[in-house]
This record gives sequence, C-alpha cells and structure tokens, in this order.
Amino acid sequence: MSGLKFRPQDIIEKKRDGNVLTSEEIAFIIRGYTNDEIPDYQIAAWLMAVFNRGMNPEETRTLVKEMLHSGTVLHHNLSRDGHRVPLVDKHSTGGVGDKTSLVIAPIAAACGVAVPMISGRGLAHTGGTLDKLEAIPGFRTDLSLADFKKVLKRCGFALIGQTAEIAPADRKLYALRDLTATVPCPPLICGSIMSKKLAEGIDGLVLDVKCGNGAFMHSENEAKSLARLLTRTAREMGKRCVALVTDMNQPLGRWIGNAVETREAIETLNGKLDGDFNDLSIELAARMIVVSGATRSIASARKQAREAIVSGAARERFRENIAAQGGDPRVLDDVSLLPQAKYKTDILCEAAGYVASIATNELGRVVMDWGGGRLRLQDAIDLSVGLEVHAKIGDKVQRGDPLVTAYYNDKSRLAEMKKRLGATYVLSKRPVVPPKLIKTVI
Ligand code: URA
Repeated sequence: MSGLKFRPQDIIEKKRDGNVLTSEEIAFIIRGYTNDEIPDYQIAAWLMAVFNRGMNPEETRTLVKEMLHSGTVLHHNLSRDGHRVPLVDKHSTGGVGDKTSLVIAPIAAACGVAVPMISGRGLAHTGGTLDKLEAIPGFRTDLSLADFKKVLKRCGFALIGQTAEIAPADRKLYALRDLTATVPCPPLICGSIMSKKLAEGIDGLVLDVKCGNGAFMHSENEAKSLARLLTRTAREMGKRCVALVTDMNQPLGRWIGNAVETREAIETLNGKLDGDFNDLSIELAARMIVVSGATRSIASARKQAREAIVSGAARERFRENIAAQGGDPRVLDDVSLLPQAKYKTDILCEAAGYVASIATNELGRVVMDWGGGRLRLQDAIDLSVGLEVHAKIGDKVQRGDPLVTAYYNDKSRLAEMKKRLGATYVLSKRPVVPPKLIKTVI
C-alpha cells in the first residue's frame, strides 16, 4: 500500500472517533478492498467503526455508488410482441424462514415481469436465497453474466449471487460482515442491497423490510427508518420503489433451513395457498406487478399473482429456470430429491396455553449452529438440516403437542439443541392476538 493516498488505519481512526468520511476516503476503502489491496482485518475494523458511528446521508450515498460501480451495471433490452419487458426485483432485508424469492420470481415472470435477481447467502442467523437454491441438485448460482442474461431472456427470471463482475464489493463485504457482527447497520445494509439491486439493470424494486426479533431491525421505527433510507436511495437513482415493513417476530411459513425451505416454496408453487408465507409471497409479487407498470390496481395484481400459482404457470417457469441453471427440475414433482437429514426429534410443549412469543433469532441460530450456516468464510454448509415450526403466535397448544421438529445429522448435540429449542417458546394462559403480517407500506 506504500505510495497510496491514504493509510487505511487513518480512515478507520477517523470513523472510530465519529467523524465524517470524505467521498475520496470511502472510495479508497471500497476500491482497495475490492482489489485485494486492503486486508480483511482492516476492513473488519472499518466496518465496526461504521457500525458504531453510522454514516450521514452523503456518506451513505457515496458508499452505495462506490459499491455499485465496483463492478458492471447491467442493461437489458428485452421485448415481447414489440413491447419492452419491464424489469423489477424484490429484496428482503433478511429474516428467518424467508424463502419468498423462490416463489415470487417465477410468479412475476409468469405475469410478464422480468426478474434479474442477484441474491446473497445466509447472513448472521438469517438464511440466504443462494444456499436455498443450491439445495436443488445441480442448481448453479454462479452463472457468467452472459449466461445470466440468456436464462433471464429464456425464463423471464434468473438468480445468481454477487460475482467478480457484478457487485464484487458486496460479495466481499457481505461475507465479512456476516462474520464480524456488523450486519445490523442501516448504511451498510443500504450499500449492500442497493449495490446489488442497482447493478441488475432494473426499472423498479420492491423491498421487504423485516422487523421483529428475527430481523436485523427489531423495532417498527427502526425498520421504517431503514425502509425510508432504502426507498429514498432507489428513487434518487431513478428507480420506482416501494417498501413493505413486515413482521419477523416469528418465522415466516412453517420451515427454517435450506432444503426444507426450498421444499416449502415448491409446495406453494404446486398450489398450497395458505398461511403467512403464501400471503406475503402473493402480496410482494403483486407489488412487483404494480411497480412494473402493468396495472395500477393492487387488487388486480394480487389476482394475477394468485392465478399464476393456481394455473401452474409459475411452477412451469421455475421448471424451465431450474433446468436452465443446471438443476434437476424433477424436484418439483418429487421433493424427496432434495437433501434429507438423517434424524428428527419433536420438541414438545410442557404446558397448555397460547403461544405468546417465539425467539425467532434463536431458531435461526440453532439451524446455523447445526451446520445450516457458516462460522468461517470457507465453510461448507449442511443443506439438509432444519426445523419444522408447528405452533405460531396465537395458536392454542396442549401439553405434549410438538412445538417444533428438528431435522439433523449430528446426534452429539441433541441435548443442547433440545434445551435451546425448548426455551424459544413463551406461552400465555390467555388468548394472544397474532402479529399483523404487513405493518406498513412506504
Ligand atoms: N440483504 C443484503 O443483501 N444485505 C444486507 O446487508 C442485509 C440483507
């Protein structure tokens, strides 16, 4: 690094002490890290300084631009019957059991919206779309940009991760934040999400900003403030954008884990239309249709989204996409082709009552600790482990009812896991009103 304009430690110190960084300093950090000129340990310290001291709007804007332009920004020219096809994506700030992308992308594609989706892997206690997709035997999320574009054109959607060509700064920072406890930080989340999404070449974006004990933003106010930061950034960059602030005080749907969530998504695409996971998937897909400009009526967009499932059109889009991305499309007809854990154990309810709260973050963490997530950058993950959630907030349960079922391969940690899982539920003697799924739209 000798001869360079700045010393990383000076910039770390400046942020550590609560000062505002210049655009040049932020550019130096992001470019230096992307080009492997600044080591992980200095960036880890810089991330913690940003986590503790935050960034003002100008710094955040610069961070987004630097991360975006660390790689290529895509442009598409898709047309159908002489009309340009609108491109819209959806991104969630991360939750437990959140597999909506696997359902939404095929629905939107079946409704005429192209979805060039760049996603992430598991982050902290939350699962990642890429890991879930890779539970499908053979499925490749590392397509070249040329192949990504080909799949998008053919299937109406394509799903990849950050690459050395597209959002490379986020590729490195995302993995490092995961391992340095620097995820729940609005400017870093904004840089991460927006750099990926703006690089996709979309016209519009739907954001699902999670709030609750399984999300990075615990309170509704924090989530709303993040939603405003993200929507403002997207709109300043010329994108149509809407954000839904949604509940994450309990897992979304009934399953947590990679292969098991993929299975749940497949069941929804096969027509299982009930529960919060389905409701949110339909709502987000409908918002994408509205953002695409195809209709102004959210009611009509919801109808189209539901029809894409009922008719099987979304499932057939997914079938084409799985084949195009190297996966085995037979999983859509036979979910037993997905990785399966060897053992299962029910965690039983010790008293009758109503479910008052669930430690959602801890459920996600148990799956991670059981092999479903990474402790180090290079770790492989066990795609088969997971949890089935039988009781959600407000449900009436009897003594001896299963609250969750654990699916696992390593018997040696069973006693510890049973203890941890048993402590995640709090019951009440009185009826409990379940939380509202969609809290607000921004
Ligand atoms: N999703 C992302 O892509 N990045 C974050 O930082 C959080 C959620």
